[in-house]
Amino acid sequence: MKKKCYLCSKTTTQTITNREIRGKVKCKVFKCLVCELEYLDRNFVKVFLTDKFYKKDYVKLYDKSFFENKNNHYVKIYEKIEKYVKNKNILEIGAGGGYLYHYLKKSVKSYEAVELSNKQRNYLSKKFKIKTYPTIDAVEKKYDIVIIVSVLEHVTDPINFLKNLKLLLKNKGKVIIECPSINDPLIKFYDVQEYKNFYYRPVHLNYFNRKHLIKIVKKSRFKLIKTFSILVYSLTNHLQWLYTNKRSEGSNSATNIKLPIKKKHNHLSKIFEKLNQLYFKELINQKAADLEVVICEKQ
Ligand SMILES: [Zn+2]
Repeated sequence: MKKKCYLCSKTTTQTITNREIRGKVKCKVFKCLVCELEYLDRNFVKVFLTDKFYKKDYVKLYDKSFFENKNNHYVKIYEKIEKYVKNKNILEIGAGGGYLYHYLKKSVKSYEAVELSNKQRNYLSKKFKIKTYPTIDAVEKKYDIVIIVSVLEHVTDPINFLKNLKLLLKNKGKVIIECPSINDPLIKFYDVQEYKNFYYRPVHLNYFNRKHLIKIVKKSRFKLIKTFSILVYSLTNHLQWLYTNKRSEGSNSATNIKLPIKKKHNHLSKIFEKLNQLYFKELINQKAADLEVVICEKQ
């Protein structure tokens, strides 16, 4: 099928799936055979992802118990970006339920947020006294850092989206980008069809690896500063998918070593913890990642 890849402009595109994705929705997923970018059929997107969807339906309020999990993905992102956000004026776009803010508030100088959902915006200003904006256009100030965590994969035109963020940045201001990675080990190394049905989801229009993000940064004329790959999901989560075709229940069991063993045999968990460290080390060597973080600077 002839279709132009929006990132590398080549017309060698393949349909990699034309079946149900997460949420039992049928949608085509395309893959560029040159740069390996994957993305959803934009015609499907037009119908499904209207503005109303993000304003009303895409809501996840702050849940304190989430932070009991010391291996949650926000803490892993925060650890990587801490030194860049320290004592800086921050604007987070798509702040959601304030999950990243929970960590950022320890070290930033100031924090404001853009959030499309009315419900979440009200919640952020009430609970945390955060200054919020309903859209990017409503923002009139300039910041040291703009953070877009789990945003770029939802955007139809990532290059222009990033270009437009320059208006929100001071001279030499930085954008911190985080996205899920298409180099997800369960996609890259294993052939678990059930996982693929779960992995591709109607709200994620783009499936990037680190190279794609670097290309987007360069095409938007930002200077690349730093990249990080992050692994979040544990060895036992992978084994669960491989042997049962099922996801782990909740973020806590997906990101920690969970074994169905009696407490008195807990030392066996310790062995799995060590195995997990070795496993992660090898996955990173093989360029696998659950999340990619890219930091770039306005020039
Ligand atoms: Zn391409």
